[in-house]
Amino acid sequence: MILYDLARRAKHVLKEYQKAHDCEFLTPTRRIERVYPPKGRRVVAMTFDDGPTDIATNPKITDEGLTPHLLNTLESFGARGTFDVIGTTEFNYPDEAGTHGSFSWGGVKYDHYPDINSDVRAGAKNRPDLIARILSGGHEITNHGYRHILFGKMKVVYGARACFNNLHEVINDIMELDKLLLDSHGYKMKLSRPPHYVDKIPDGKTSYDAYRYAGYNYLAASFDGGGWLPSCGDFEEDVEVMVEPIRRALEENPEALNGQIIFQKDGYSMSRHTPVAAALPYQLELLQKYGYEVIPVSELLSVSAFADCENEDAQCLANAGYTVAYRNNTLLPMRLLTFGELVEMATSPSEVLTAYRNYVDSGYVTEEACASVAKRYGVTEKHPYFISFCVAAKLGLIDSENSQKLSYKTKVTGDIFARFMHTLAPEYEFTTTPGKLLRKHAFVHLRRALLK
Ligand SMILES: [Zn+2]
Repeated sequence: MILYDLARRAKHVLKEYQKAHDCEFLTPTRRIERVYPPKGRRVVAMTFDDGPTDIATNPKITDEGLTPHLLNTLESFGARGTFDVIGTTEFNYPDEAGTHGSFSWGGVKYDHYPDINSDVRAGAKNRPDLIARILSGGHEITNHGYRHILFGKMKVVYGARACFNNLHEVINDIMELDKLLLDSHGYKMKLSRPPHYVDKIPDGKTSYDAYRYAGYNYLAASFDGGGWLPSCGDFEEDVEVMVEPIRRALEENPEALNGQIIFQKDGYSMSRHTPVAAALPYQLELLQKYGYEVIPVSELLSVSAFADCENEDAQCLANAGYTVAYRNNTLLPMRLLTFGELVEMATSPSEVLTAYRNYVDSGYVTEEACASVAKRYGVTEKHPYFISFCVAAKLGLIDSENSQKLSYKTKVTGDIFARFMHTLAPEYEFTTTPGKLLRKHAFVHLRRALLK
C-alpha cells in the first residue's frame, strides 16, 4: 500500500513537472488537444484513426465499407471529419494474431489494419480511391504513420511489440506517407498523431522532434469517443458507451464540447466490431441539436488557435508559420517577454525549418561561427532555441558580439525591443516605451512588421 502510494505521488509530481515544462519554451510543434472556445459559435472536431478501409461494418449495418459509411454519415449532417490515416501495414510480417479482445488482437509484434492478413484492404497506399473520396468531401487527412509502428517501447501494454530505433527511422516513416499524399493526391498534411501516443524514441528523441522536421503540429484529442474499446458483450451497449458520454456532457453544459477534439476510430474495436458505424449518427444528432458545427482540426485552429485565449495578432503570425506558442498550445499573453522568445518568434520560419532539417540530416552543428554567437546568449546546442539563434546570427538579427550582454532569459525592455525591431524591419516605426514588454505587445508589433 505504501509502495502504491509512493508510485502514485511520484507519477503526480512527474505530471506536474511535465505540465510546467510544456509552457517553458516556445516551440514550432504544438500539441493540439483542444482550442479556446470561440465566442458566438460552437465548434468541435472528430478524428478517425487507422483507416481508410472498405471492410464491412460488424455487425452489418450497411452494404458500404466502413470509411465510405462514416463519410456518408458525416456528410448527411453537413459535418466534416479529420481522417488520421496510415500508409499500409502489409509489410508488418512475420506476425501472428494475439488473443481476441486483447490489445494485441490484430498482431503480437505489429499492428495490422483493418486486420491481420487483410492489410491490403486499408491504408493510403492500397486505397487511393478512399483517400480521393475523403478529400472530395472536404474532410481533412492527417499522418498516423506509414506502417503504424510504435515510435518506442511501451512495455506495460505492448511488451512484444517491435518499435523504431531512432529519430531517423521515425522521420523516414512519416515522410513516406507525407510524400505519398503529396505525390498521388497533391495534398499536404499538417498534423500527425503517433501510433498509440508513444512519444519517446529509443535514442532519446521524441515524436515532437520528428514532427518539427516534418513541419507538423502534434494531433492530440481531448474527448474519447470510445470506438476502440473492447466489447461490453452486447453491440447495442457498445454503441451506447460511445453516445452516452457526449449526451451527458451536453446535458450538463451545452458549451462543454466547444473547441474540443473527439477521438474516433476508422476500424475495428478490440473485439473486431465497429460500434462507431452505428454510434456516429447518434453523436452527430446530439451535436446538431446543441448547435455544434463539426469541422476539421485545421479549421478549428483557424477559428481559435490556442488553448488559453483568443489573440488575433498571434493567430495571424502562427498561420504564417511563426512560432508564438508553447508546446501545450498556450499563448500566455500576459507573461513578460524574454529575449529568447523574441528571437524564436521573429526569425524566418522557412529558414529555421531548413536549418533544423539540415541539422538532423547531417548531425552537423550548423555553421560554427553562428553556433558560437548563439552560445554568447547562453544558447548551447541542447537548448530549444539553438537553431533559431543560429539562423538569427546568420541573418544578422543578433549582435554577434552581444555588446548588450543579453541572455535568452533577459526580460525584454522597450529599448531592447526597439533595437531588435530596427534590425529586423528597418522601415517599421516603433517608438520606445519604458519598462518591460508583455508577450501580447510583441504580437502586435511583430504582426505589423512581419506580415504586410
Ligand atoms: Zn492507431
